[in-house]
Amino acid sequence: MGIKKWIPVLIGIGAVVFTFFLWKALSSKERAHLEQKVQLKAADLRDDIKNDIESRIMALLRMAKRWEVRGMPTREEWESDASLYVKHYAGYQAIGWVDPSFKLRWVMPAGGDDDGHGFEDRKSALLAARNSKEPRITRSILFPDGSKGFLVYVPIYTDGGLGGFIAGVFRSQDLLDSMLKEHELQGISIAVYDGNEELYKGYDESEDYGFADERAISLYGAEWYVRVWPTFEYLKEARSWLPDTVLFTGLVTSGLLTLMVWLGMMAELRAENAEQINQDLEREVFERKRAEEEAQLRAKEIERANSVLEHEVKERIKAEKAAERQAAELARSNAELEQFAYVASHDLQEPLRIVAGYVQLLARRYRGKLDRDADEFIDFAVDAATRMQRLINDLLTYSRVGRQKEFTTVDCKELLKHAVTSLKASIDESGAKVVWGRLPVIYADPSQLDHLFMNLIGNAIKYRGSAPPEINVSAQERDGEWVFCVRDNGIGIDTKHFERIFVIFQRLHGKTEYPGTGIGLSICKKVVENHRGRIWVDSMAGKGSSFYFTIPKA
Ligand code: ADP
Repeated sequence: MGIKKWIPVLIGIGAVVFTFFLWKALSSKERAHLEQKVQLKAADLRDDIKNDIESRIMALLRMAKRWEVRGMPTREEWESDASLYVKHYAGYQAIGWVDPSFKLRWVMPAGGDDDGHGFEDRKSALLAARNSKEPRITRSILFPDGSKGFLVYVPIYTDGGLGGFIAGVFRSQDLLDSMLKEHELQGISIAVYDGNEELYKGYDESEDYGFADERAISLYGAEWYVRVWPTFEYLKEARSWLPDTVLFTGLVTSGLLTLMVWLGMMAELRAENAEQINQDLEREVFERKRAEEEAQLRAKEIERANSVLEHEVKERIKAEKAAERQAAELARSNAELEQFAYVASHDLQEPLRIVAGYVQLLARRYRGKLDRDADEFIDFAVDAATRMQRLINDLLTYSRVGRQKEFTTVDCKELLKHAVTSLKASIDESGAKVVWGRLPVIYADPSQLDHLFMNLIGNAIKYRGSAPPEINVSAQERDGEWVFCVRDNGIGIDTKHFERIFVIFQRLHGKTEYPGTGIGLSICKKVVENHRGRIWVDSMAGKGSSFYFTIPKA
């Protein structure tokens, strides 16, 4: 729109400039026409003035010629002749005779203020007339009444030489008035000058419009010029309405054109805007429709997802109920199993003790008295009975752990000290070193924790390497629970056995390598789970093991 905005203005300016030039051209043409008219008039007037003055001078010449031919007239004759001239020809102020010594002798009409005025002051004209033997006109003269005029000297040559001069005195205003009255001078201003002196004034003082035509008139030594120009009235009348009408119409048309172009552009702009708005609207409608469709699609998807979710929730509730049922079932069967294990181990203890007692009695009393096979058989029976007793004891311990829970605040340091005291024999025998850092006071069942520490430290001593065992017990607070760690420098455990070792009766070694029943760590697991904690191991074969367990703080 940047450049477009200027288009109406440019068109307007163009039209105005064109109008102005047209007006100017028409005005110039009109003025040229007028000038031409004035020029023609000026030339016409010049010729007429010249002819008229010449005819006046011709009258004087005729008088001089008569004088020359007939000889000097009597004064009466001459005066009647001259008075006829003055009467007949308008513009004559007077006619006189100047004698050869340049003295004015006769003058007609006689008397009056201005009859001979300036006759003798015009000697140069007289001399020029005498010398050239031709008529001569003087420069302009001022009459006593303030009017202007001139004199014409016509020399008279008789046989006896210069007979004087016929002098014609003219009032220029009257003379030219009489000459010009036959001319159509409507609307024309005229002035006749002799040099700077104005001989004739045919105009109104205020009227000079800077355009005039001047024509020179050369007459018997006089250098006049006639100046012609149109009057204001004439200018007004002669002036055609065409240029001004063209100017006015052109300006109005320019304005209208500018307005029309501007309106046209505005209309176009508005149409463009409307179209743009339409397009925007259409796009918006389209977008909205698409959004609605998308929303519907999404709503359908959500509906579908909801029904799937509902279905899943139902399934999950069903599964949870089933799990609950299974858990309850498991708990019940576990309890039954534990009860069975407890009862079995407890009830087996008595007959086993009798079997072991008698087998040992047999061994004591009959060793070396029967044959060698019998000695060996008895040894096997004693060994098996002892092993079975240990197994039954451990199983009993396992089933007893947690049967009676007595939770209280326990100082772990005291508990650990007690465990170390209980294990004093094996610690001394192995040369083990047990150290611990800051241990917390926790809420727990002390008898169960005693089993836990005893088993972990006991294992750390049992599964030692070649070096004397070094056992470190520590605890760290983390996320609302205590994380305990029992670290040793023993034989370590392969990663693949990390889960297995916590299962009851699972052992990694034969009974000849390391004695044991495979129940210790399962007791530990049971104790930790009774406290809602977790237990795990981190180890590398040959690099020692770290057993971790957690006890929640609350
Ligand atoms: P037991 O010691 O009677 O064999 P446990 O349940 O206490 O039974 O241990 C299970 C197995 O875990 C052990 O047979 C042994 O191989 C391994 N084990 C337990 N503690 C350690 C330990 N501190 N270092 C190396 N191995 C261990």
